[in-house]
This record gives sequence, C-alpha cells and structure tokens, in this order.
Amino acid sequence: MDGIIIVGAGEAGTRAAFALRETGFSGGVTLIGTEPHLPYERPPLSKPLNETVQMKPICGSEALKAAGIEYGQGVSASRLDAEAQSVVLSDGRTLTYDKLLLATGARPRRLTCPGAERALDFRTYADAAEVFSRGEAGKKVAIIGGGLIGMELAAVLRGKGIAVSVIEAAPKPLGRAVPPRFAAKLHARHQDEGVVFHLGQGVAEITDDAVVLANGDAVPADIVVAAIGVQPDVALAEAAGLATGNGILTDGCLRTSDPNIFAAGDCAAVAQPGGGHMRFESWRNARSQAETASRNMAGGNDAFAAIPWFWSDQYDLGLQVAGLPLPGYQSVVRALGEGELEFYLDHGRLVAAAGLGIGNGLAKDIKLAEMLIVAGSNPDPEALADPALNLKALLRSARAA
Ligand code: FAD
Ligand code: NAP
Repeated sequence: MDGIIIVGAGEAGTRAAFALRETGFSGGVTLIGTEPHLPYERPPLSKPLNETVQMKPICGSEALKAAGIEYGQGVSASRLDAEAQSVVLSDGRTLTYDKLLLATGARPRRLTCPGAERALDFRTYADAAEVFSRGEAGKKVAIIGGGLIGMELAAVLRGKGIAVSVIEAAPKPLGRAVPPRFAAKLHARHQDEGVVFHLGQGVAEITDDAVVLANGDAVPADIVVAAIGVQPDVALAEAAGLATGNGILTDGCLRTSDPNIFAAGDCAAVAQPGGGHMRFESWRNARSQAETASRNMAGGNDAFAAIPWFWSDQYDLGLQVAGLPLPGYQSVVRALGEGELEFYLDHGRLVAAAGLGIGNGLAKDIKLAEMLIVAGSNPDPEALADPALNLKALLRSARAA
C-alpha cells in the first residue's frame, strides 16, 4: 500500500488531504505543492485588509503534522506515469501511489500583444505582493480584464488613491459570471468611485508607460495587470495520456479516465447528468469537490452534486451567487432595505439566486435560497418578490411538500 498522493497544494489539494483523514483513511497521504509557502487562500489576495497583501494560510505545519500529511513544500510533480502508478518529483524522488488526486488548479491566461511581458499576473501571493508593493498613491494602474479579479483589484486600488483604468474586451464588465442586473450596479459603483472604463476594446501593445488600445488610444499606466481569465492546468494529465478538454475530464464521481486518478477544483471538468462536462472556478467548489474526491479515493462512490456558489467583495458591497443564473430564466427581484435579491426560476422551479448588498448582509437570504433550490421549491413569483414572505417559512412548506 503506497497511499494517496495529491498534486497541488491549493484549496482543493489541501482540503482533500485533511478530508481523507476525516473519512478515516489511515494510509499515507502526501501533498505536493510547487509554491514555496504553506498552503494559503487566494480570495484574500484581491480583498486585502489595510490595502496590503494578505497571506491567509489554509493550515499550519502543526496541523499537517498532526494529521500525518507529508507536505512537499516548493516541490513540483514533473511527470506522471499512470501505468506504473508513479510520480516523478522536482526534488529527484519518484513516489508510487494507490490513488492520486490532481488538484493542479489554473494558470492566468496570457496576452499575446507586443509588450505583453510588461503585464503582471494576479494569481499567487507573489503576484499580489508585487502589485501592492508597486501600487502606491499617485501611480496609474491599468487593469486589462473587467472580470472578478479586475473589479476587486480596482476597488482596492481606488481605496489607496490610485488612478485605475479597466480595459475590457466585452461591451460590459463582469459579463461572465455575474448576473447582468448586479454587474450593471457594480459597474456604476466603480464609475462613481472614479474608475475609468475602456469597454469593447482589445489591446494592441503595452509600452513602458501606456496600454495602446486596438483603436489607437493610449491609456497611461505605470503598472499594468492582466486579469483576463485562467486556463486549467492540465499539463501533467495530458502528458500522462488522461482525457482532457477544458480541464481534466472526470466522471460524475471525479474519477479521470484512469480509475486510480481523480481530479478536483479549478482543473477538473466534471461530467454532468444532462451530458457534457462543466468546470467551476470558485473557492467553495474546490473545497466540496475535494471532499467528494477524498471519499471516493477512500473507497466511496459518491456523485459530486453541490450547488455552485461564489462571492465577491467590491468597496463595501458584497455579492453572492448560488446556482447557475442562466439567461432565459424567469427573474424575480426582491428589494430589501440593505440591497436586492434576484431569484431565477426555470419553468416555475427555483434554480438560482443572487444578492448584492452591504457587506455580508444578504448571506442568510442566499443560504436559505440555496436550501430552497435543494428542496426543489416552486415558489409563487409574486409572493417571492414580496419582502414580507418569510423564506424560512417557504423552506418549511417546500420540505413538507
Ligand atoms: P489553485 O488554488 O490554483 O491551487 C493549485 C495549486 O497547485 C497551485 O498552488 C499550483 O502551484 C499547484 N500545482 C500546479 N501544478 C503542480 C504540479 N505539477 N506539482 C505541484 N504543484 C502543482 N473564489 C471565490 O469563490 N470567491 C472569491 O472571492 C475568490 N477570490 C479569488 C481571488 C483571487 C485573486 C484568485 C486568484 C482566485 C479567487 N477565487 C475566488 C477563486 C478560488 O481561489 C479558486 O477557485 C481556488 O483557489 C481553486 O483552488 P484549486 O486548489 O483548484 O487551485
Ligand atoms: P474572469 O472572471 O474570467 O474575467 C476575465 C475578463 O477578462 C473577462 O471579462 C474577459 O472577457 C476579459 N478578457 C479576456 N481577454 C481579454 C483581453 N485580451 N483584453 C481585455 N479583456 C479581456 O477572470 P479573472 O478576473 O482573471 O479571474 C481569474 C480567476 O479567479 C477566475 O477563475 C475567477 O473566477 C477567479 N476569481 C474569483 C473571484 C470571486 O469569485 N469573487 C474573485 C477573483 C477571482 P470574456 O469573458 O469576453 O473573455
């Protein structure tokens, strides 16, 4: 018995290592991570306290030791041999395994224009430390990409009195993951805070002091950050001959095309009951897939079925989205004193919900909405829009039905 090897010590890999112990697995657990730190959380990187870079460890070395997890800190898995059930490491060791989890995450997408190498990434602690150490009041920062990182970073930098421009290829920011109603409200808030947007614009070149747009305009910039999305890290899996696409392809139980290898987190594209594969890039997804994969590596056969959920903090606003609010669903808006909720119904059935309010103020409502989604609730849209309707009472009747 060679135990379980986990490649990637991010949110998914680290959670999986501890979850294995929680399932009662007593064999060897080895966690291999390229980065030179203890495992740490990425969300605080773009939501720093006191506007300086934040390192929030997922666990300490004591906890790793107490759980009997061998941590290869600053070590990469450079080759995977699925047939021999072995992994070659950058420190020269070759380890064999009974089961292996690929939790290799994702890498920032790169620009290809002239001067692209001048743009900073924003994925790791080292990336965030560089951006925050160079970004000081009086500087001009151009952020390429108006997605979640771009907008969270813009909010933080405005708080430091830095001039911020956001260059986004699409006609509106936050078009990918955020429901249009709330994307528009966040866009407006950024404009009120003084962020300058260049929308529907590609980048032609990055020079020493500007980003030149496709239309020839030059956006002055001392610092340029590229936040144009990520690509799943499938290199190890691909070289080992595993099935890949937009991620490492798995079945519903997170097993790859090799029965001894599982995948979880940003790198995993999971088979869906209705066909096709889906990949999610969020903190909670990484953790809940890690828990399912751990149970299955330890002998279980659970299908991964968690509802997608993510949050974003920008200025004093908190956004939460549960489920997949696809275009075409019926929208029901509930205005509350401290913000707004939007529910999404598919043929009468509640399938997703989102909320934007001050801080964490709408978290309880979104939690209840999630439980209503799981309960298969078919709420009356008019009643749902009325803030007087108690969501807890609705949940009780949905469960009773
Ligand atoms: P990762 O965290 O990318 O970890 C993968 C790790 O594997 C990396 O450390 C990598 O170096 C390592 N690795 C890769 N290949 C190898 C190899 N061959 N050998 C050894 N190690 C390897 N989500 C939210 O829901 N809410 C948020 O507010 C939020 N904020 C975010 C802010 C930022 C700045 C970023 C970057 C992400 C944010 N996310 C947020 C997304 C969330 O952090 C990710 O979805 C989550 O970290 C994914 O976890 P993961 O373990 O799959 O991947
Ligand atoms: P993202 O949310 O995918 O946004 C990238 C944005 O850049 C998209 O709007 C994209 O437009 C745009 N874009 C792509 N190519 C461009 C180009 N050449 N020029 C200008 N704009 C371009 O990715 P991200 O903001 O980089 O975040 C990276 C990862 O971190 C994601 O996994 C994200 O989910 C995660 N993250 C999550 C949170 C959160 O949940 N709160 C916070 C921060 C980060 P198109 O969509 O049209 O390509």
